[in-house]
Amino acid sequence: MANNDSLTHTMATIDSFTKDRDWEQFHTVKNIISSISIEAAELSETVQWSNPSTDEVRNDAELQSAIGDELADVMVYCLRLCSMLNIDPIQIIEDKIEKNASKYPIESSKGSSRKYTAYEK
Ligand SMILES: [Mg+2]
Repeated sequence: MANNDSLTHTMATIDSFTKDRDWEQFHTVKNIISSISIEAAELSETVQWSNPSTDEVRNDAELQSAIGDELADVMVYCLRLCSMLNIDPIQIIEDKIEKNASKYPIESSKGSSRKYTAYEK
């Protein structure tokens, strides 16, 4: 892995947490992918019936903590899956950003929320 020593350490911590509890037996690819979806839904649930601005979240310690907890759950499962599949998380993010930069050139996408297929025509 390139330039991500801290993330490598975090992934090792997650793997140790799993191994110490003998939970590797439950960590199939399907189960971890399902868990990512479930935790993403829990993240959505934090603002299910509200639509706070960024500043409102920043000024609401309880909401910010709840969002942080669920965000951590999502990221832990994402990193666990990367570890299981020998995927470098930094590399796939950098690769994806590069792909997105090609799909969304600044001159076509700046200030627009349209999907790239709308201006590929
Ligand atoms: Mg959760």
